[in-house]
Amino acid sequence: MAVAVEDGVGPGLASGRSGPRQGSRGRVVVVGAGVIGTMHALLAVGAGLEVVHIEREIEPRGASTRNFGLVWVSGRASGADLELALRGRRLWEEVALSVEGLHLRTSGSLTLAATQEELEVMREACSAAGTSLRRWELLSVGAAVDLCPEVSPELAGALYCPVDAVVEPRQAVHVLREHLRRQPRYTWVPAREVVGLGPGAVCDDLGQWHRGDHVYLCTGATTPGLLSRYVERPRTRRVRLQMLETTPYRGEVGPALADGDSLRYYPAYDVPALADLPPQPSSARAAGAQLLLVQRVDGGLTIGDTHEYDEPFPFDLEEDLYDHLLGRAASLLRQPLPPVRRRWAGVYAETLDKRAELYWREEVLAGVEVVNGPGGRGMTCAPAIAEVSIARLLDEAPSAGPAGVRGSAQDVRSAVEGTVGPDRAARTGAAVPWPGATGRP
Ligand SMILES: Cc1cc2nc3c(=O)[nH]c(=O)nc-3n(C[C@H](O)[C@H](O)[C@H](O)COP(=O)(O)OP(=O)(O)OC[C@H]3O[C@@H](n4cnc5c(N)ncnc54)[C@H](O)[C@@H]3O)c2cc1C
Repeated sequence: MAVAVEDGVGPGLASGRSGPRQGSRGRVVVVGAGVIGTMHALLAVGAGLEVVHIEREIEPRGASTRNFGLVWVSGRASGADLELALRGRRLWEEVALSVEGLHLRTSGSLTLAATQEELEVMREACSAAGTSLRRWELLSVGAAVDLCPEVSPELAGALYCPVDAVVEPRQAVHVLREHLRRQPRYTWVPAREVVGLGPGAVCDDLGQWHRGDHVYLCTGATTPGLLSRYVERPRTRRVRLQMLETTPYRGEVGPALADGDSLRYYPAYDVPALADLPPQPSSARAAGAQLLLVQRVDGGLTIGDTHEYDEPFPFDLEEDLYDHLLGRAASLLRQPLPPVRRRWAGVYAETLDKRAELYWREEVLAGVEVVNGPGGRGMTCAPAIAEVSIARLLDEAPSAGPAGVRGSAQDVRSAVEGTVGPDRAARTGAAVPWPGATGRP
């Protein structure tokens, strides 16, 4: 598709309204082609809007391509956090049914307890609120091995969450974007960095303005960057993670695996028994290490992660942390680990108080909205976050298009019930329309 740009039109002239193509219900500009921006583009096109999608790289290579691909519900805190994750999980399933080539593996997760203390944390968490939504099952070691014969029988037990799922992070945003490029209302503008903002408009590094009824700034961990002129103080901080991937493992792992250290980091396990866990080894604690392990479609194992908060971040990778993660992974699996084929670091943005604010949404100029900072839940929640954006837009801007926009707004509104809380929608099973959908569930 040809790159469409608005030549040299200043933001004053743009005044937030650009005149959508005939037959379109309005136009949005999405900046950033990570999973947050791509899901905004997908849902906007699905709601009948015209989308101009701008990315500063030739193709995205940020957090959305570097993660585990976990659509991870189990560890989320009960309430809005869990509801957003559940809604994200459901929408991923709908997207996967509609977009050819998008792999969603719904094989759940096993959090493995190596000790009785870890098992006790799981047991207490299972009796706390929200368990039924996660569909957790506490398993004996025998039952865990039956479910996943590749886990070591030397464990104390496991917590199974059938709701967790996996997408392929090196492919997902690219597959979605290729799907979008086949839609008539979508325009892809790669290798353009947005450097300025105006009401309902952005200016790229070639000085060209792109205008819409609304702009979504989904620029990930590059914040503050572009935004420093428009927000008083940062609403996010950055977190750096070390990851690796092995060559194909001989067995089929099935569910995603987590170790007992993950209990220390996910809010769902914030129960009294947590205080009885012995301290982590100091180097692992300093690195915020937990083990997550996901088998890729080609058999390789993605293994991580660590959490680093102090900037400036190092540009190189710390080998000791890999020794720790590989040791943990080896202790949980029945067969030896295959050789490592790649190592990398990734950075995501999270809100300063991630329990109080699940992500950062703010209109920084008329018609220009930041959607950022979902932290370690961004891959999981991206479709649910985008769904909220598009529903709000269609509610708040009924003039975005000719007759018909109301019907579209209704579709999306019924899916989110007009709030950030997607729980009700998850129960009603309402769905947004996907562009080019063939087989809706
Ligand atoms: C190692 C790692 C593991 C993770 N694992 C998981 C997981 O398993 N499950 C989960 O739910 N979450 C996970 N996360 C979190 C998740 O990956 C992020 O929350 C999510 O990818 C953020 O998406 P994004 O679109 O906001 O950011 P990004 O993916 O960083 O995308 C932002 C895009 O904006 C572009 N951009 C920035 N500035 C401009 C500009 N001025 N003009 C044009 N384009 C611009 C960038 O080039 C980039 O492509 C993980 C994160 C990391 C780093």
